[in-house]
This record gives sequence, structure tokens and C-alpha cells, in this order.
Amino acid sequence: MNADHPPIPAWLSGRPLAGGLVVPWITPQLPDGRHLFGSIEQTSSEHALIHRLCGVCGRRIAPQPLVLLLRMSDIPRQCTNEPALHPQCAAYTAVACPMINGTLKTYRSTQPPGVPLTEDSAARRGSPAEPWFAVWVSDYDLVIDHGNLCASYRRIRTRRIRPITWSSQRLTP
Ligand SMILES: [Zn+2]
Repeated sequence: MNADHPPIPAWLSGRPLAGGLVVPWITPQLPDGRHLFGSIEQTSSEHALIHRLCGVCGRRIAPQPLVLLLRMSDIPRQCTNEPALHPQCAAYTAVACPMINGTLKTYRSTQPPGVPLTEDSAARRGSPAEPWFAVWVSDYDLVIDHGNLCASYRRIRTRRIRPITWSSQRLTP
């Protein structure tokens, strides 16, 4: 498999593509049409969190389970400001996203103007990339953490927590 251009799952065939990769539903788009991979658009991200929509395909996540992708530094707080994903959307992201699959070693150091970003993503600019984990849960609570709306599993029993960046490129239920 070409890690740069993994096969597009049929489930995601309706999403726009950029550079051979599916553009996630929460990815900001610049006025010139380019997509800002690695960033999240705050309004659609919060909409997805509130309405239990998937951050990649934008469809409602039902039935369970759902998958939260967390950086290692987020694990102790048991929450993330990125929307939950369908298992199949998380599996594609684990392979396709260069930040999550370990291809990128640092976060984007500059940010084009005019794109509203969370405080969280602004604080990470230029920092070394972190390992990511997939957390499988049956649901999540909405909380405010560091000023951002987040999905928390502090009170939810996790089904499993699995490292992504360090492990194989596959994520199976
Ligand atoms: Zn999805």
C-alpha cells in the first residue's frame, strides 16, 4: 500500500480529495480553495461534537462504537477537542493523515490569515509531532477544557485504547 495515497474507502467516496487524500469534514478551506490539513475549523468541529457527527465524513455516528483520536498529551485529561469518528473513518485517518501516521515530525509553524483556529492548535505551532492514540468508547460527555469544547470520556468506560503512530498502519475493531 502506498502510505501517501491509501485507497479511498467507498464510505468516503463522496468527500472532496486533495493530494489524493480525503478532506475531512472539519478541515478549514482557504478562500483560494486550498484545504488546511492538520487544522480544524472551530464552528464545524463544535457542531460535530454537539450533534455526534463524525469529523471525517460529517455523518451522524450511530450505532456505537465511536473512536476518539488523542495525542499522547491529551490522554491524562481524557478528552479531545476533535470530533469523534466512525471506526471506518478512524481507520482511514490512521493510515492517511501524515500527522497521525508519523510521517510529519513537527506541527505546521505558520498559519494562513483568516482561518479561525482553536487556542489549542495555535499553541502547538512548530512543536514536535506527538504519538496518537485511538480510544474506543460507547459515548462521550461534552466539557470545556482549556477554553475549547471537548469530547470527554472521563465518566465513560473505554472499550480499548490503542497506540496508532507507534503501531502498524492498521486499525481494526
Ligand atoms: Zn465518518
